[in-house]
Amino acid sequence: MHDRLIQKYGSPLYRYDLGEVAEAYGRLCAALPPAAAIFYSLKANPHPSIVADLARLGARAEVSSVAELLTAKSCGHAIHQCLYTGPGKTAEEIRQAVQLGARLFSAESVTDLRRIAGVARAEDVTAECLLRLNAGSGGSGTSIRMTGRPSQFGFDVNEVARWISQVSDVDGVDVVGMHFFPISNAQSEAALIASFEESLACASLLHETYGLPLRMLDLGGGFAAPYARPGPAVVYGGLRPALLRLADAYLKGRSDVVLAFEAGRYLTAACGSLITTVSDVKLSRGERIAVLDAGINHLGGMSGLRRMLPLSAMPEAAAGGESVVITLAGPLCAPSDVLAHGVRLHSPAPGDVLEIPNVGAYGLSASLIAFLGRVCPAEVVVRDGDVVSATRITLVRDDL
Ligand SMILES: *Cc1c(COP(=O)(O)O)cnc(C)c1O
Repeated sequence: MHDRLIQKYGSPLYRYDLGEVAEAYGRLCAALPPAAAIFYSLKANPHPSIVADLARLGARAEVSSVAELLTAKSCGHAIHQCLYTGPGKTAEEIRQAVQLGARLFSAESVTDLRRIAGVARAEDVTAECLLRLNAGSGGSGTSIRMTGRPSQFGFDVNEVARWISQVSDVDGVDVVGMHFFPISNAQSEAALIASFEESLACASLLHETYGLPLRMLDLGGGFAAPYARPGPAVVYGGLRPALLRLADAYLKGRSDVVLAFEAGRYLTAACGSLITTVSDVKLSRGERIAVLDAGINHLGGMSGLRRMLPLSAMPEAAAGGESVVITLAGPLCAPSDVLAHGVRLHSPAPGDVLEIPNVGAYGLSASLIAFLGRVCPAEVVVRDGDVVSATRITLVRDDL
């Protein structure tokens, strides 16, 4: 299969299997309350085939740029159902989003809320806003904690008395609820449940004490997936009952609250692999190094996000040969172009094909694709074993 794809589309290439996306969506639906809204975060992978399939499956879109919004719209997402998030939204991008039909925004600050309202008034529409909250005091068991410390994200919950009157003074937006996104890539189901409970408790307190609306409560996500290493998808067997219990405890008597969740990597990590060819194998001062035709320009998301690839990154071993410990370097003229140190592989030789699994999220679009100007890998989309789309991103420099 790989050799055939490489013959046709060249090496390296990304392969996305849409069956895996549907399976992941099914697993997430089963883990959440039946009536929950699920937002797919396009940031994880904005490939149109994936975004369109998730729209058909029933997901809504969480976007953070006009380009992502356009992708969601052209892939069949109901645009007024998309959630537009992100700090530092400019008036111009809000205007473009509103003109495209976006009506639901996450507001990150009083300035952001006023800016959304100003555009909405000028465009003569009502924009619905969730207030993004920076709550929580920290916690353990999470890979990336986004709140409970100084951050560009959200309103500080401990300062609510200071901003609440400013929020209610803003004219032109309808504040419909709250948005939490305290963790990403949670280490355990227990950590996830603890984070949802923290947010529910906070939302309920802000609603009771300050009258913040609760028509929609976006509890964010944190659903985990392996990245660039083999590993099964995470199954959250106890999450649905826990969430139903928590919702009952904290939102008593409020059956009108739309509970929403956001997922990026959980929905798309497993669908993608990067298929790359070994260009050279050398022994440098005692260290064995394989130079691949893919580097951080094709799989650089984690370095771009100031997170290194896992040192245990371990592509599927090539058939045959003895097992060796080896460093996987990319082809770029940059010493940082290393995908993994000290992984164990069957001794690779030039021409061998390696598969780096679980890179359907934060793969190509999160990479340094402009760095050194190399050709982007083809993105080959497969359904039931058949190729349904093959494309290549190219960068162009426009004259202004
Ligand atoms: C990045 C992001 C997500 C998705 O995160 P994953 O870890 O990929 O699930 C969801 N919501 C917001 C607001 C984000 O910024």
